[in-house]
Amino acid sequence: MSERCAECGGVLPVGRTCQHIFDECLALELTDHAFGKVHMLTVACFMIQHGRYSEEALSWIGPQVQDHLNGVPARYLRQRAASAVANTKHPVKILRDAGAEPQPRVDWSVTIVDVVPFLQDADAYCEQIERWARATVHEMKAIS
Ligand SMILES: [Zn+2]
Repeated sequence: MSERCAECGGVLPVGRTCQHIFDECLALELTDHAFGKVHMLTVACFMIQHGRYSEEALSWIGPQVQDHLNGVPARYLRQRAASAVANTKHPVKILRDAGAEPQPRVDWSVTIVDVVPFLQDADAYCEQIERWARATVHEMKAIS
């Protein structure tokens, strides 16, 4: 019987977890620019769907992913993040505390598991990551 990821609900391929798949994606993205184009989306969607962001980071990241999908380059988003942090009076917490209440459950329609069939082809991969990101931004409205 197939196992589901306890965090995002994705139906896992035998012997793999979302973390394994994420690590594979990062290896591709960091070594091949054709895959690396969507790096910001991969990291953000994985973090969102696995409840890794603090409340504050979660409400900030959704609009950034949307802007990136609309064509705003990742380097502008990084500048925006840096100035948001510089202009905040309190220390900014990106990651959810280990003891914090878990993020509310979402039935994501697309997860990182859906990217697995596309790991061999950069164009198809990028298209699939963008599909994942569009679904994630839309469906995260319930929790951010
Ligand atoms: Zn998962």
